Amino acid sequence: MVNFIDYNKELKFEYGITQRLSPLIRRVIAPNPSAFTLHGTGTYIVGNDEVAIIDPGPAIPEHIQAILKTLKGEKITHILVTHTHLDHSPATVQIKAASGALSYAYGPHARNIKNSDMEEGADFDFKPDKRLKDGEIIKGSNWTIESIHTPGHTSNHMCFALKEENAMFPGDHVMGWSTTIVSPPDGDMSAYMTSLDKLNHRPESIYYPTHGAPITNPRPYVESLLAHRYEREDEIMVCLKDGIDNIPDIVEIIYAKIDSSLHKAAARSVLSHLIHMIKTNRVKCEGIPTPDNKYRAVN
Ligand SMILES: [Zn+2]
Repeated sequence: MVNFIDYNKELKFEYGITQRLSPLIRRVIAPNPSAFTLHGTGTYIVGNDEVAIIDPGPAIPEHIQAILKTLKGEKITHILVTHTHLDHSPATVQIKAASGALSYAYGPHARNIKNSDMEEGADFDFKPDKRLKDGEIIKGSNWTIESIHTPGHTSNHMCFALKEENAMFPGDHVMGWSTTIVSPPDGDMSAYMTSLDKLNHRPESIYYPTHGAPITNPRPYVESLLAHRYEREDEIMVCLKDGIDNIPDIVEIIYAKIDSSLHKAAARSVLSHLIHMIKTNRVKCEGIPTPDNKYRAVN
């Protein structure tokens, strides 16, 4: 029985047009639709008159102009970045140059990590002006944001909680339209599941992910994401116990219903699950876990 996740791919919007979502939150969507970004990157504007930008987005001139145009007469005081994928952080450079605002994030993209083609691509040039710690509070003139370190999708991923509206900006950690890509080595399934559990213990009542529509039932939704990952591990365990010992064959079986064009991404996900299962002493392999290795269940 496959756990039901209530995905929502619907969104009413126009590229370059700012939408007001709440008294303190506005959103502009960048014209970078793809298999990773759905309609494109949602850049959030938090506050009024003196504002923070969350995830400036890709360095697409029309998108940057749309943000600056909508904020004419207002002041950008902070630029917050959830993580350093190319669809989230690059426009920081232009927004900073136009506003003088400082950038805030956990840190640069992890070095020495070969970017797999299953990721959105990393912005290795990004360096925050201020590095944030887990639990750190950032205060604007009319808003208060708590930064929450949520490694998993990337090791430097942060979610941002807006205190005044009991709202969360979960970046790519929780998305309403799809599961999150967790691709080793920078993606880490153990960290991802721990970070999901971390959100599950928090009070925020609405999530505004960088891609797709707001999530209005975050607790049950996050729980269904966790349940989905546990189910995948159960399915992998059944394969291993049946003597199916390699990732391509496991993917053929447990992703039989999804389009084969997505099997390469699915293989990254199975690898990240296997690494997690090795760490928790449920699975073994010779040497380090790689896409071509053979795996077996620990009895
Ligand atoms: Zn991402």
